[in-house]
Amino acid sequence: MSCLFCKIVQGEISTDKVYENDDVLAFNDIEPQAPVHVLIIPKDHYPNIQKTPSEDVAKIFDAIKEIAKQLNLDEGFRIVNNCGNFGGQTVDHLHFHLLGKRKLKWPPG
Ligand code: 5GP
Ligand code: ZN
Repeated sequence: MSCLFCKIVQGEISTDKVYENDDVLAFNDIEPQAPVHVLIIPKDHYPNIQKTPSEDVAKIFDAIKEIAKQLNLDEGFRIVNNCGNFGGQTVDHLHFHLLGKRKLKWPPG
């Protein structure tokens, strides 16, 4: 299996786990862009949001809401999904970035 995030799900690559349930895994980004920078992924492999059933997307968003609560991101946060080449996606396993604990600029580059 060549997918990096599938290897993380299988435990072949170790990560700093933040949250886990039957369907979703969340871990700290290796190159954090904010004091909180968590990646939230489905345990099943989907290359991007367009290829992901809506009920699985909903499970990920439920997890994101729970993680934001657990990490006390009450001053706000940002959820990012980079999709495809123009979106800047570098890992082809669906993931959402959860960024928090600093004031973020808008728009991004
Ligand atoms: P993308 O650019 O595809 O939206 O985001 C991929 C993210 O995965 C990047 O923010 C990158 O820092 C992160 N990343 C890449 N390799 C690893 C890794 O081995 N471990 C962890 N925890 N994050 C990674
Ligand atoms: Zn994968």
